[in-house]
Amino acid sequence: ASPRLLGPAEIRDLAELLEVTPTKKLGQNFVHDANTVRRIVQTAGVRAGETVLEIGPGLGSLTLGLLEAGASVIAVEIDKRLAAQLPHTAGIMQPGKPLTVVTQDALRVTELPGEPVRLVANLPYNISVPVLLHLLEHFDSLQSGIVMVQSEVGHRLAAGPGSKVYGAPSVKAAWYGNWRTAGQVSRMVFWPVPNVDSVLVGFERADVPGTESERVATFALVDAAFQQRRKMLRQSLSSVLGGTSATATAVLEAAGVDPQERGEQLTVADFLRIARAAAAADA
Ligand code: SAM
Repeated sequence: ASPRLLGPAEIRDLAELLEVTPTKKLGQNFVHDANTVRRIVQTAGVRAGETVLEIGPGLGSLTLGLLEAGASVIAVEIDKRLAAQLPHTAGIMQPGKPLTVVTQDALRVTELPGEPVRLVANLPYNISVPVLLHLLEHFDSLQSGIVMVQSEVGHRLAAGPGSKVYGAPSVKAAWYGNWRTAGQVSRMVFWPVPNVDSVLVGFERADVPGTESERVATFALVDAAFQQRRKMLRQSLSSVLGGTSATATAVLEAAGVDPQERGEQLTVADFLRIARAAAAADA
């Protein structure tokens, strides 16, 4: 039988046909292992008939796996040559399956031709966090997802307060739901082989804890707190809470947060309480 997913030979042939020289700038590392693809699709719990959003389909490794599982795929790819080839590859290897390719920068997508319920992607590594936050902000229909990211970033996304790797991405991600790591992936399944390890990260959306303007205010506090993560909150937040450590202390106390704590101890709910106390103090 002819292959239905991309292995090393198919990746090589496609790259040759398209004269693709993978670029670091676009994080182009292509998966050439069918087992890895099926594992990602299975971990994501993709069900036949549902609409899946894929960012950065590349040569189509994961796309074909999603189509094989019976999903309708909306694939957003910035590289024009790759985007143009994808329907042909899918037409040969998964004929008749529902695929829509959007040729665009994922960071700029605000509308999609459909309502995806799941995100499944092997993300371009240099922009994985901004892409995730952008998609969660703009597409309420996304209820869950599995993404492959650089190991370090994945552990950061899934970290909770008190962890060494807990940082601004962890708090911002937690605004939208619950995150977990879902298994390592060897760098050997990629061509070219990247110099970092990868991890699968899953999320389940939860109701957002505040309004859009509260989110913006909360994220500004998070950025300020983690820009100076070793400083106490009354110092790290002074510039965004009235200008002095005394004004910051008053807001923090009104929010029920110890001014001597550091950002790495706070949950997203704590940051939101500070944002609300600051708004109340301004009013
Ligand atoms: N999904 C494929 C796979 O698993 O083999 C390729 C994954 S590769 C790590 C990342 C892909 O994202 C590349 O195809 C790259 O061209 C694309 N990409 C990079 N930046 C992008 C952006 N801003 N918007 C959409 N796609 C992007």
